Amino acid sequence: MTKAKVIDGKAFSENLVARVAVEAKSLAAKIGRPPALAVVLVGEDPASAVYVRNKIERTTAAGMRSIEHRLDATTSQAELLALIDTLNEDDAVDGILVQLPLPKQIDEAAVINAVTPDKDVDGFHVVNAGRLATGQDALVPCTPFGCLLLLRDQFGSLSGLNAVVVGRSNIVGKPMAQLLLQDSCTVTIAHSRTKDLQAVCATADILVAAVGRPEMITGDFVKPGATVIDVGINRVPAPERGEGKFRLTGDVDYDSAAAVAGAITPVPGGVGPMTIACLLRNTLVAAARRFDAGPIDI
Ligand code: NDP
Repeated sequence: MTKAKVIDGKAFSENLVARVAVEAKSLAAKIGRPPALAVVLVGEDPASAVYVRNKIERTTAAGMRSIEHRLDATTSQAELLALIDTLNEDDAVDGILVQLPLPKQIDEAAVINAVTPDKDVDGFHVVNAGRLATGQDALVPCTPFGCLLLLRDQFGSLSGLNAVVVGRSNIVGKPMAQLLLQDSCTVTIAHSRTKDLQAVCATADILVAAVGRPEMITGDFVKPGATVIDVGINRVPAPERGEGKFRLTGDVDYDSAAAVAGAITPVPGGVGPMTIACLLRNTLVAAARRFDAGPIDI
């Protein structure tokens, strides 16, 4: 039986987007145009196409301008870098997002670091990673920032809490750990080489799962009353829904974890919607900074 409070990321993200939309309108009045996000999609990966369509729709719905660049799967690295250069120089563009993954002929790190840090709304550029790690003003990766907002809403202050982040990727695990550290948690980063992962997780007041392994974190990993944030998005076969059907599931085994946790994010409807909301927030912040339009406190 579920006892944990369900953290409603969908409702939280809708509220966040509404606040971003209000600020975007007021910024547009100051700078003479809405904040603008350029989205670059290379190739025809179906999942990426869905993400990009969502991002474009939500950007427009929040009263911002969406600029779309769709490039062929055979695009060379030099061609993509040339487009990024143009977008970097374009005064009408405030944020640049290059949808990952990229085709294999293109070096992702080279592309990520080609985006000027001030327009890097994904927060992946090495300068933004460095700023985050050293406590300076940074554009912060959207998914971990979304998790942080949910946690602040849940706890108020995170100071002194034990946080375990399972996963050490540059886009989720590491920035998540940095954000929790900045909010004065005692942070452990676990990964595939961690010894006795279950015991490590069981020390966590805040347990963040970003492993990419469906339902790996079960209730046995959860300290009673802990808050569990499930970043995972896995598409797994669901024959019960019919032949060839799939369902989305997290990295946490929801039922067993919810029976032990104090609060938990569901999949879908937890962290997922926060990612796009934070992308819009970052675009607004990037635009406000570029035009010296004062701080955005969202
Ligand atoms: P990566 O594959 O880049 O990283 C996975 C991490 O998990 C690695 O650090 C890896 O360790 C660790 N790991 C793998 N297996 C184990 C294991 N058995 N025990 C402990 N640690 C393990 O994934 P991402 O960080 O990009 O994504 C993580 C999850 O979040 C995925 O499900 C992804 O779909 C989802 N995601 C969701 C988003 C959203 O909007 N909600 C956005 C981005 C990602 P090691 O480094 O040692 O290999």
